[in-house]
Amino acid sequence: MQLGLGSRRPRTREDLRSFGRCWYPVKRPQPKGYRISIQVPGPFPYRHRRYMKPIYRKSDGSWPTIPLNAEPAGYVEVYRNGVLHCWQRLTTEYLLESREIAIVHVFAHEIFHFLRRSRQIPGRNGENEADQFALSIESIFRERVNGA
Ligand SMILES: [Zn+2]
Repeated sequence: MQLGLGSRRPRTREDLRSFGRCWYPVKRPQPKGYRISIQVPGPFPYRHRRYMKPIYRKSDGSWPTIPLNAEPAGYVEVYRNGVLHCWQRLTTEYLLESREIAIVHVFAHEIFHFLRRSRQIPGRNGENEADQFALSIESIFRERVNGA
């Protein structure tokens, strides 16, 4: 494993948020392993949007109520074994109060994708699942920092 740290000035409005990216291993044109990049430019505290459990269309065609703290973030339709499944992705606002917390949160989110992709942990490799994992790692970090 290689770890590189660097910093750069935000160049676009898109840079002014905390986010991560990951790339799965490729063999061509030249072999590259799993790569993770995270950006946490701040300023902090920063209001981040994270994924939460989606809502699924019921068999009668109706939808559950969107929770008060949630915002729709995309509609998905997938056929599985000839059955149409529909769901609405949801995000919620989440406060990243410091750069340290942001680094732990965003890095843990991307590490989840790596661990799941490399079959080191079970479950679905989704955004909500990655954010739930990030929250659990962040909670451990908070306990260690606060000495609780
Ligand atoms: Zn993700």
